[in-house]
Amino acid sequence: MTKEEMYNDIRKWKKEKNAIILAHYYQDGDIQDIADYVGDSLALAQKASKTDADIIVFCGVHFMAETAKLLSPQKKVLLPVMEAGCVMADMMDEAAIKKYKEENPDTIILMYVNSTANCKQYADVCVTSSNALKIIDHYSKLGKKMLYGPDKNLGAYAMSKSDVKLDLWPGFCGIHNGMKVKDVEAAKAKYPNAEFIAHPECNLDVLAMANYIGSTKQLIEYVTESKATEFIVGTEMGVLHEMKKRNPNKNFYILSDRLKCYEMKLTRLEDLYNCLKDELNEIIIPSDVSQKAVKCVDKMLELSK
Ligand code: SF4
Repeated sequence: MTKEEMYNDIRKWKKEKNAIILAHYYQDGDIQDIADYVGDSLALAQKASKTDADIIVFCGVHFMAETAKLLSPQKKVLLPVMEAGCVMADMMDEAAIKKYKEENPDTIILMYVNSTANCKQYADVCVTSSNALKIIDHYSKLGKKMLYGPDKNLGAYAMSKSDVKLDLWPGFCGIHNGMKVKDVEAAKAKYPNAEFIAHPECNLDVLAMANYIGSTKQLIEYVTESKATEFIVGTEMGVLHEMKKRNPNKNFYILSDRLKCYEMKLTRLEDLYNCLKDELNEIIIPSDVSQKAVKCVDKMLELSK
């Protein structure tokens, strides 16, 4: 079956089933091109909370589909590949955050969206890389102790941008955390006229070398608005698809071939096709978990308006 034949069937089923396809920027280009909406974690969560579709097919990783389900509990949310997880989300387990909460009842828990619904139950607010600085700043005014997790790197970046103090959960994204100063030096030597842009899930020493730091969406907007024409991109390679699409006359170089999230790339067009056709892999969250976990996501959306 050709790609176009698959696209035609997918379009037909979307109409018949009143389904919407949401895809993260880290998905393969073939999937981004058939999605109704492509975005980063915050934009996709906002979209999931507003859609009137009956079925949401979420092309991304497990915690993202869970977040969509939290926001649309009455809808059928499908994840094309159930095994597509997130290394960072797996670095916080429910028992550990529950224990932390019991031992630190007055600490504000700021939870990166890259976390399971089970863990989100214990958070005061959820954040994404698009809104983390704004939301951390908001809570810092309360003068209470704060925990940020599971991404220690984004937490460290937030602290470097203000005088806020955070307890950091020792988690990280294996892809971004694996970037080293020597990778940036090598890329800059190869492309001396290019600007270096990076995602805040990278380490501080790598971020210190960047011309611009931002979430996936912010990086895309930056390269689109910038007068510069060459960029070394320090985030997952899937983002180059949208950058090139919006800026056909600019040049983009991935910082390293290691910037590939294998979990995100588990989803192939065939998986999306079968998932929508047979309505496979529905996300189910027990209602007692869902009712508690959604509160931190709702709070984030309220503060992100
Ligand atoms: S790129 Fe990193 S943080 Fe994002 S889904 Fe993959 S492992 Fe998780």
